[in-house]
Amino acid sequence: MDKKLRFNSATIHGGQQPDKAYGAVMPPIYQTTTYAQITPGGHQGYEYSRTHNPTRTALERSIACIENAKHGLAFASGMAAMDTVLKLLQPGDEIISTDDLYGGSYRLLTQIFEKYGLKIHFVNMEKAENITPFLNDKTRLIWIETPTNPMMKVVDIRAITALGKTHNALVAVDNTFASPYLQQPLDLGTDIVMHSATKYLAGHSDTVMGLLAVNDDALNEQLAFIQNSGGGVPGPMDCFLTLRGIKTLHLRMQRHCENGAAVAIYLQHHPKIEKVYWPGFVDHPNHEVAKTQMKAFGGMLSFLPLGGDLSKAKEIVQKLQIFTLAESLGGVESLAGHPASMTHASIPKEIREKSGVVDGLIRLSVGVEDVQDLIEDLDQAIG
Ligand SMILES: *Cc1c(COP(=O)(O)O)cnc(C)c1O
Repeated sequence: MDKKLRFNSATIHGGQQPDKAYGAVMPPIYQTTTYAQITPGGHQGYEYSRTHNPTRTALERSIACIENAKHGLAFASGMAAMDTVLKLLQPGDEIISTDDLYGGSYRLLTQIFEKYGLKIHFVNMEKAENITPFLNDKTRLIWIETPTNPMMKVVDIRAITALGKTHNALVAVDNTFASPYLQQPLDLGTDIVMHSATKYLAGHSDTVMGLLAVNDDALNEQLAFIQNSGGGVPGPMDCFLTLRGIKTLHLRMQRHCENGAAVAIYLQHHPKIEKVYWPGFVDHPNHEVAKTQMKAFGGMLSFLPLGGDLSKAKEIVQKLQIFTLAESLGGVESLAGHPASMTHASIPKEIREKSGVVDGLIRLSVGVEDVQDLIEDLDQAIG
């Protein structure tokens, strides 16, 4: 299809065409490692499935379309996608990263890549100019995560990118929390978009998947080279499931945002709740930035019960019946998490509490159920 599609159409048709063999509307799951050659080296574009697989190609085209990118690349997980980006760097290169970072990303940077000679500066990016003292000739990559987890801080992607470009740094955005439905970082000037497609893109808590999207041809080639050399690629079944998820991304996100807003407002008015972190509130410190780069405010939020100590938070999450107590996010079902003992348990308490992740904090991934059921569930749990 040559016509440039609008977002909701691109999720369904972007980069897709009926299969050439029998006209299958969904790309078949090409569960094959190798491809017959007519003459030595005479193949039809596919030789070996670490390098390419037609089901993966369909997914890679889809993510490129919905991120307004030229190229997409698929990986076995979000972390495998980030790992591939980091392998673009050389010993001695420096990275400036958002400080309130997904725990696994923090671990990959500090426990794996630091030992290969990369230097990483973790910076609160709520004010773009905070990165200026760390920019120098060695700055090769700026890693942005926004909104952040679990404090829901929002980083000004345009402003950080503009600063990074003054030093020719690559700028990458982990777009997992927003999804391309809410924000498209390449349109704001960044070089690389990364996704844990495990979350909103696949959307049904049934597939682990990572994706990258880029515009630059040379950058795409380098990433594809690392992807093929390291081999952190997904299987065709998982590519199929992610592709199927993406087709309803716009419908799910619309409801995630509506339900997220309703739950945030309900909690904000609850007498037993001290604080709700959600970028849609006009008094959220980064609300104005969020408005300029996000279409809506998403279905992720965190809250602190009044006098919120550990036992109160534990009591609430254990009483929830529709919200499932579990890690992860972005699926159709609502999930509740307790960052201090789950996703952020590996971060020392003093460091964790400095960024607001106190023992009483509860994080919600608001799903697409009837919102009244969700509110009633929270009501009985908060008591
Ligand atoms: C889950 C997550 C990741 C890691 O992705 P996996 O698919 O679990 O490897 C990275 N960043 C963010 C923001 C996430 O939520």
